[in-house]
Amino acid sequence: MSVIIIGAGISGLKTASALYKHGAKNIKVLESRGRIGGRLQTITGFDGIRKYDLGASWHHDTLCNDLFVEGVEAGEKYIFDDDFFIYIDKERGRVDRDPEMKLEIIDREINKYTDMEYYQKLGSKDVSFQELASRYLFEKRKYLTDDQIRYSAQVSRYLELWHGIDWKQLSAKDTYFGHQGRNAMALNYDSTIDRIAKTFPSEIIELNTEVNSVKQDNNKVVITTKDNKKYVADYCVVTIPQSVLELSINESAKNETGRIEFDPPLNNNIQNGFKSVHYGGLGKVIFEFEKICWDQNEAKVVTLAKTSSSFVDAVRQANTFDDLLRYIDKDNSRMITRDCWNQPLYFNNLAKGLDIASFMMLMQSPLTEYIESIQNDKDKVFKFFQPVLDSVLKSLGGKPVVNGMSDLKQVFEDDVPVLRNIIVTNWTQEPYSRGAYTACFPGDDALDMIVALDRGQSSRIRFAGEHTVMDGAGCVYGAWKSGQREADYIADRMNLK
Ligand SMILES: Cc1cc2nc3c(=O)[nH]c(=O)nc-3n(C[C@H](O)[C@H](O)[C@H](O)COP(=O)(O)OP(=O)(O)OC[C@H]3O[C@@H](n4cnc5c(N)ncnc54)[C@H](O)[C@@H]3O)c2cc1C
Repeated sequence: MSVIIIGAGISGLKTASALYKHGAKNIKVLESRGRIGGRLQTITGFDGIRKYDLGASWHHDTLCNDLFVEGVEAGEKYIFDDDFFIYIDKERGRVDRDPEMKLEIIDREINKYTDMEYYQKLGSKDVSFQELASRYLFEKRKYLTDDQIRYSAQVSRYLELWHGIDWKQLSAKDTYFGHQGRNAMALNYDSTIDRIAKTFPSEIIELNTEVNSVKQDNNKVVITTKDNKKYVADYCVVTIPQSVLELSINESAKNETGRIEFDPPLNNNIQNGFKSVHYGGLGKVIFEFEKICWDQNEAKVVTLAKTSSSFVDAVRQANTFDDLLRYIDKDNSRMITRDCWNQPLYFNNLAKGLDIASFMMLMQSPLTEYIESIQNDKDKVFKFFQPVLDSVLKSLGGKPVVNGMSDLKQVFEDDVPVLRNIIVTNWTQEPYSRGAYTACFPGDDALDMIVALDRGQSSRIRFAGEHTVMDGAGCVYGAWKSGQREADYIADRMNLK
């Protein structure tokens, strides 16, 4: 073969599509799963009609997102579902747009405080976002009301649902990032995947083909699959997720599913790059209802983690910031028992804009790992989330939820939200994803890994994927662009351009 591409996610498919367009016909895409798309996966709900994206849902950065523009031109559907957030506290109810508390304005100030700490000063030590937000509250306490101290940092935590990790793990430096325009929800990402896959013959893709070794032999690359099938190619583009690629430098992971043995081993720059980066665990739960019986005018509801007035006392009374940190450490250890009010959760009301009687909820690690591990016990999942679901419905003028999952024919009163099904994602449990996407813990900097993977293992063994780009890092369009980059690089060397 001239080129073997490992992985049929959007980056692998784009690599194949662009290479084929350049004139390289002798190519193959080897995909371990029985489907294409990778972390883009569209499924249908209990009625066989509603569609949901279990992986990515949004086109981010639409001011500079060429994949979005291309899709729109090709007739792909989308909605700009940007909306103001409703924030719900367990005890107090709605706390958004409150003329007394003005929490959204304090959230913006915490954002600015972070920016000044890391981007306008040199040498600031990166800490967890929890620590930095608490330091803001401590330092500025005389300018803040008790309610602002109690709730504002909890509001800022909605960013956990971007990064897919809890604020105790999240790098403060990395927490806020600039958006390049609004977000458009794709309807749905299967149309993008299918469109790209149709730009080259389907025989190019081999499904159910896990690659286990990539060996460079002079100017050839030998790729071996789990079934011991060997391919010899001039070039190889590896697009497996960062979490799976990282197994390659870990000897003790030798028998892990999806692991690729590189010979020679991944170069030092790549190995070092992995030392300063982690992987997040964004997950989703879809709550499917019989019919819409709540407000359809608001799209976004965030339930906040519970707080107590003793936190306000601790902030007010601490003599030093270290005193406050000691209080926070104790508070963290009290949160060991799992509870739906221990962390913020984001509910997307699909009734607005899409007219679908469902909520798509986003959750973060470590909750995702737990919920995905109990996904087959839908009643247990429901019981866990019932208190927040009821609060969300109440904030939208709806009645408490009724569990109608066991008997789909059972009839209930007209204005009662009857839950018919729950769908839970599986990204943290699946060996070919092992989580969601790149995330930074305190002290991390993804740049080293990105630069090393962009340069490649060699001129013959290349990398593409969301973890190999700066612009659009972690995003669908970034992954897509990296596929074009590698196709251009190879086409150039093959004198195809
Ligand atoms: C829950 C969730 C929500 C997200 N939300 C958004 C969003 O709203 N907007 C956005 O822009 N991004 C979002 N993302 C991120 C986005 O989905 C990814 O950045 C993007 O899809 C990654 O594409 P990729 O081609 O780099 O990797 P993947 O899609 O993971 O493709 C890699 C492929 O390699 C295959 N593979 C793995 N190991 C092997 C092996 N040994 N041999 C052969 N094949 C192998 C895998 O099966 C997979 O198909 C989200 C991700 C998740 C999980």
